[in-house]
Amino acid sequence: MYENSRKQFERAKLSIPGGVNSPVRAFKSVGGTPIFIKSAEGAYLFDEDGNKYIDYINSWGPMIMGHAYQPVTDAVHEQMKGSFSFGTPTSLETEMAELIKEMVPNIDLIRMVNSGTEACMSALRVARGYTGNNKFIKFDGCYHGHADAFLVNAGSGVATLEIQHVPGVTSAVAQDTLTAAYNNIEEVQELIAANKNEIAAIIIEPVGGNMGCIPPAPGFLQELRKVCDSENIVLIFDEVMTGFRLAAGGAQELYGVQADLVTFGKIIGGGLPVGAYGGRREIMECVAPAGKVYQAGTLSGNPLAMRAGYTLLNILNDGPDIYKELERTASSLQSRLQQAFSSAKFPVTINRVGSMMSIHFTNNQVNDYESAKSTDTEMFNKYFHHCLQNGIYLPPSAFESWFISTAITQKEIDKTVEVTKAFANLC
Ligand code: PLP
Repeated sequence: MYENSRKQFERAKLSIPGGVNSPVRAFKSVGGTPIFIKSAEGAYLFDEDGNKYIDYINSWGPMIMGHAYQPVTDAVHEQMKGSFSFGTPTSLETEMAELIKEMVPNIDLIRMVNSGTEACMSALRVARGYTGNNKFIKFDGCYHGHADAFLVNAGSGVATLEIQHVPGVTSAVAQDTLTAAYNNIEEVQELIAANKNEIAAIIIEPVGGNMGCIPPAPGFLQELRKVCDSENIVLIFDEVMTGFRLAAGGAQELYGVQADLVTFGKIIGGGLPVGAYGGRREIMECVAPAGKVYQAGTLSGNPLAMRAGYTLLNILNDGPDIYKELERTASSLQSRLQQAFSSAKFPVTINRVGSMMSIHFTNNQVNDYESAKSTDTEMFNKYFHHCLQNGIYLPPSAFESWFISTAITQKEIDKTVEVTKAFANLC
């Protein structure tokens, strides 16, 4: 069933570390051989062996309208005719910035970069430049890309591979990274009290997506806003996952809390490599050449990526019904899966916010990294492989969120439910 993928993986391992260009793709925790995908359309992935899968990762978020979405592919084709990198300003970059300002609350200025990692790394540098402080607070199990400062108690691949300490991250860098449990405002207050006037920023995924999907506790984001205001700390929302996915204005709109800086990735590039960071004018004016906080990029604002992202964002901006539709689909998937698992002898908790969701095999509430780690990950691995063999592609780790696209219909939900019922009766 996976013969060609196996061959491709063996070949890749000879030339690429671990055979993959990003660790979670490697199936290390779920076991088995990663599936090599050849193409994708709508709700489906097609692999090198001719197998077809319902896709619940959607490139880890960007393909919110499904794969090979025609308005975006047409726009990219059109743009290609006029060359696709100049290293000069283009009007498209300004149009993109204006559109984002219109969609997202509290963005006065925004800078384009090439990945979510770059966006978070740069936002932290700006917060440090603006406040003159070095330390910052992040939350256990949150992932903000692979820049050194963030690789402390990180989620995503770091959690999946159970890496406690990342070699290469010096203690000099790590000592400025303070960590608190997600959803625990007391721990944040204690860290602030112990590091008075030394903290530049608090960075958070407003909905955790890198330890599975973890919603913020009611009032938690509001409490963070209050504490940042009273202590002159820059509040950074990492909306690389949640931006343009949970609402046109992201988690800021959904929860009615405004951050000082916001980072984006994934959907903002429509499937091409883009990131961005932006926020309050006073802070963003520190960025070079307006200010002295240096940050640059040869391919930043790349016309192909801008065209793809601009086309997709415009469609999301014009269609509030898209978010209603995603909510309907995801809520139907959640409740029907809950039902499908009802005959199982093992416990299941399904967390969901909009079109981000995850299944944890536990009786307990999963609301932080500790509770996510204490779930039955072996059961997740079994479920993952059962789904894969039956044509459903889930994230290959219990510590990742599912991303649902508008291409998922009742037909795909029916199949997912049927496969899940069989699993519940099997185990
Ligand atoms: N921030 C969050 C919340 C993410 O989920 C990710 C990646 O998954 C990143 C930052 C890093 O983005 P990238 O992989 O584009 O560097």
